[in-house]
Amino acid sequence: MDARLFNQKIQTTYKQAALLYKRTKVASSEQREELLEQSLEELRITLEELHVAEEEILAQNEELAIARSQVEIERQRYLDLFEFAPDGYIVTDATGKIREANRAAAKLLNVPQQFLVGKPLINYVPSEQRQAFRIQLQKLDRLQQLEEWELTFCPRQGIAFDAAVTVSSMYDASGNLKGWRWLIRDITARKQAEAAIRAVQLQNLQLQEAAKLRAHFLAIMSHELRSPLNAIVGFSQLLLRQTQSALPQTQENMVSRILNSGKHLLVLIEDILDFSKVEAGKLTLKLEPLNVVDLVIATTEEMHCLAEQKHLKLQRSFAIKSSIISNDSVRLRQILLNLLSNAIKFTEVGKVEVRVWELGSDRIAIAVEDTGIGIAPEDLQSIFQPFRQGNQTLTRQHGGTGLGLAITDSLVKMMGGKISVESKVEQGSTFYVELPRRVREQQ
Ligand code: ADP
Repeated sequence: MDARLFNQKIQTTYKQAALLYKRTKVASSEQREELLEQSLEELRITLEELHVAEEEILAQNEELAIARSQVEIERQRYLDLFEFAPDGYIVTDATGKIREANRAAAKLLNVPQQFLVGKPLINYVPSEQRQAFRIQLQKLDRLQQLEEWELTFCPRQGIAFDAAVTVSSMYDASGNLKGWRWLIRDITARKQAEAAIRAVQLQNLQLQEAAKLRAHFLAIMSHELRSPLNAIVGFSQLLLRQTQSALPQTQENMVSRILNSGKHLLVLIEDILDFSKVEAGKLTLKLEPLNVVDLVIATTEEMHCLAEQKHLKLQRSFAIKSSIISNDSVRLRQILLNLLSNAIKFTEVGKVEVRVWELGSDRIAIAVEDTGIGIAPEDLQSIFQPFRQGNQTLTRQHGGTGLGLAITDSLVKMMGGKISVESKVEQGSTFYVELPRRVREQQ
């Protein structure tokens, strides 16, 4: 029941009381008694109705009070959300003057909250960006909402910071612009991270470029070095052959040393050239059917002389039914030569052995085993990396570039195989190469 109805009831009661009063004036004493009774009854009913109405109003009042307190709680909640939000919230009027600002906004702009109110927001935009700021606001009237607008803010006596701003327009009931709501998020950290990423990307590009240049340089240099070296090797060979008897012994020795050093240099240059090709991804395999047993025999024959010079036994053993495989004979020979020359280089007494056997129907294994100086456990992984050698003092004694195993490893991987090593210091090393019987083109 509303207040209007309650008033009506009281009015009706008044009117009835006035009517009764009028009637009692003109009525006889008998009639008066009857009227009194009747009036009392009416009065009782009216009072009862009023009582019900009063109860209803009380209940309604209670509901209203509860609803009001709920509204108050909600209002407080929203105020807290606004006030304690981690991002800056600002409300400006249609002229851009700040009407409300939360704590985060005050902190960002380095101005106490109460002093922010009334100040134009544009005051905190750097002067060179103000024109663009005004133009953007004019556009906003049509857009209603603008998200992720990147702006720079200049806090009072502080350092300018980058912000991502979301602005939404507010309108009154007749559709006129009332003001704007601003959400200001400090994105300095994000901007710094983006700049760092850009710097790393640039560095990456520069490194890639440098790697390309290095590979190119290596390829050209190796090529350029090879031509004069070929002449040195060729002519010293010729000299030795032609003048074998005519030259005094010391000069013959000198020519032999020129020849040997030249050959050694050629091998090193070949290694560098191969390595730069592998690095540049320019090395391709020429696949063909070949007999792996024949290849191993031919390669060990080539190394026979070297092994003999050091009084080492050079052995081989085969446990393979079908010796025909598909691979690149030049590169497979290169792998074997690298492993064999290392085995001979690092072995002073004992033997070097090559073993070939089958691993199921589609893979084969080759092992090159020696009884040499072995490899320290801490060097076992790094020896496959380019330019990395085991014990540096030993290597200096034995020479080498530290590229042989890196090239071997890359070649084995290109063939879809894998290489591993087992070794014990002072007892010897075994290098295992596992290869598919049929190397595929894409590998
Ligand atoms: P290089 O022989 O030119 O030094 P490699 O890449 O062929 O380069 O070998 C890297 C290193 O691995 C060698 O310097 C040596 O320390 C170690 N190494 C390779 N093979 C053997 C082996 N059979 N016995 C002992 N050490 C070896």
